[in-house]
Amino acid sequence: MDRVYNFSAGPAQLPLAVLEKAQKEFLSYEQSGMSVMEMSHRSKIFDAILQQTEQLLRDLMEIPDHYKVLFIQGGASLQFSMIPLNLLANGGHAYYVNTGSWSKKALIEAEKVGESRVLASSEDKNFTYIPEIDFSVLDDNTKYVHITTNNTIEGTRFTHIPDTGDVPLVADMSSNILSEQIDVSKFGIIYAGAQKNLGIAGLTIVIIRDDLIGHAPSNLPTMLKYDTYAKNRSLYNTPPTFAIYMTKLVLEWLKEQGGIKQIEKLNIEKASLLYNYIDESNMFFSNVRSEDRSLMNIPFLTKSDELNELFVKEAQKEGLVTLKGHRSVGGMRASIYNSMPIEGVKALVQFMKEFESKNG
Ligand SMILES: *Cc1c(COP(=O)(O)O)cnc(C)c1O
Repeated sequence: MDRVYNFSAGPAQLPLAVLEKAQKEFLSYEQSGMSVMEMSHRSKIFDAILQQTEQLLRDLMEIPDHYKVLFIQGGASLQFSMIPLNLLANGGHAYYVNTGSWSKKALIEAEKVGESRVLASSEDKNFTYIPEIDFSVLDDNTKYVHITTNNTIEGTRFTHIPDTGDVPLVADMSSNILSEQIDVSKFGIIYAGAQKNLGIAGLTIVIIRDDLIGHAPSNLPTMLKYDTYAKNRSLYNTPPTFAIYMTKLVLEWLKEQGGIKQIEKLNIEKASLLYNYIDESNMFFSNVRSEDRSLMNIPFLTKSDELNELFVKEAQKEGLVTLKGHRSVGGMRASIYNSMPIEGVKALVQFMKEFESKNG
């Protein structure tokens, strides 16, 4: 069967080896005679899956011991609410760096819970850059600073992790977790929906420093408290078992690729191929400030809507799919997460060259 190169922003393409492994183990996982989907989440065999997944993530990201890894449902979007409910509901204020549609949604949810302020914004230029941040306004009542390390829709990323001093830095890393080396100890909370670089939809990973757990108001519903997940090893209720298993496979695959250091090198190489061509092309261009360009999500355009449309349609015929840009940005977007092989990026660039010479 032919597989396409799928440039979807999420749920995204998975490594073929991961899908094949899942297929092989689908009907009977490790001689259990049952699928992972059919197992008790309290069974020894699933417990091992859960432990291995956590350990793999800890090893790959070098997560310090004083951080918990939580497995939660509800997507990154539920974290937009859980973060303020757990950290802001008792007073004080939080600061948000507004760098795109997802940051904005996070801010809107925080405003419902407590005092939330914009620390810096790039909305004036349609989120095409990462703004300078003035940290001098942070004070003892600042509960946290929230950033979106990679802006999936607009195609920007933080290339330096801001230094917020003693104020916990909270990061939505949904679209660039595991894509480049980061120092976890610089963060209070890191969270990411799994369906981009970690696996499949249904699972959200939260990496949280111990001292940030246990501050929720006592009347906060049990399922919304980080404490509940931390105390029960994410087994208070039934976790998304199959999604956790898929993440285990993705992490094993990543380890086989040489870990984050290796994949980062490859990600830089992949993104450079595409950016270099966009920069030299007379037809395609990017609106993103070059020093803030994302390695994962690469929006690009031509000068005409008709050409954009034709491009997406013709690319699809060549097995290069889901290249239509987000409606708020227009044009095209190539999402090239860890699982996109360099061959896929080369095929895209080749196609762009041919398209330009035919239609330029
Ligand atoms: C995809 C995405 C989200 C939303 O994730 P859900 O799991 O659908 O809630 C939030 N933030 C960023 C940066 C994303 O890329």
